[in-house]
Amino acid sequence: MENLAEIKNLEVIYQTKKNVFGGTQTIYAVNNISLDIKKGEILAIAGESGCGKSTLAKAIMKLVNSKSGEILINGQNILTISKREDLKSFYQKVQMIFQNPYSSLNPKMKIGDILKEPLEINTSLKKEEINKIIEEKIEKVGLDKSCLNLYPHEFSGGQRQRIAIARSLILNPEFIIADEPVSALDVSIQAQIINLLKQLKEDFNLTFLFISHDLSVIKYLSDRIAIMYLGEIVEIGRTEEIFTNPKHPYTKALLSAVPELNTRENKEKIQLTGELPSPENLPQGCKFHTRCPYAMDKCKCKKPNTIEFTQSHNCKCFLYE
Ligand code: SF4
Repeated sequence: MENLAEIKNLEVIYQTKKNVFGGTQTIYAVNNISLDIKKGEILAIAGESGCGKSTLAKAIMKLVNSKSGEILINGQNILTISKREDLKSFYQKVQMIFQNPYSSLNPKMKIGDILKEPLEINTSLKKEEINKIIEEKIEKVGLDKSCLNLYPHEFSGGQRQRIAIARSLILNPEFIIADEPVSALDVSIQAQIINLLKQLKEDFNLTFLFISHDLSVIKYLSDRIAIMYLGEIVEIGRTEEIFTNPKHPYTKALLSAVPELNTRENKEKIQLTGELPSPENLPQGCKFHTRCPYAMDKCKCKKPNTIEFTQSHNCKCFLYE
């Protein structure tokens, strides 16, 4: 399958605000990540809160500055584009769905105006054509076109997320980054939104980067999974490979924490202990060594290489070297 996006050696670093002594700290949010996203797939990024998943998403959307590396979308390095026209065409191809449907919609605008805005800014379509598109898209996400005259506060959380999804589809993007799109919703609504995303992927031939800490949702939705720990991808594979034959101790620990996901193959139960280390003071060597039950001396000072198990499945851990 052809790649839609290729991320090469990406680094995102933040400086904290000055503290009372005037000092700042460097936060290594994304550390040398390389990743391909194939056309038409749903690639999930999983990991605990604070592992850098959302920063990675924002870097791909150019919402945060990347320190180094490349992000190629259809072969074009989007980190180097700055002209208004190029940015416009980039944001037509790539859209984002945010976690919180309460804050992602402007409360002062009617739904119709929210949906029209990207078309008015980015196209020269006539009013009637714009109206036709927004009616089609709102119906496509399961809402009636009568809701175009209402304001966001008149909708439930699930309905607002449907509206946010409709807005993300307005410019016919190829690639959608969904950052925890169901985690703010009631469990009963989550399944409806997940099924909607699955259906839209088929109907519009979309590619998704799906960010979530919920492995049950990821198992149901994704084609491949990348497991992220402290700004690095520690294991990646097809969904089936990750769930039936997890290799990295961190992946095993994440799976062990969800009883209904404990498969026969994942016999090894690892309890994740301790907090995620602060990204300001990253451990040397393998970053998981402070929590890993199998840590050896070399894990504390050397970085493990990538070990390939199949063409699609690899992980970074000394246990397989
Ligand atoms: Fe654990 Fe060492 Fe493997 Fe890291 S490299 S996951 S510390 S065994």
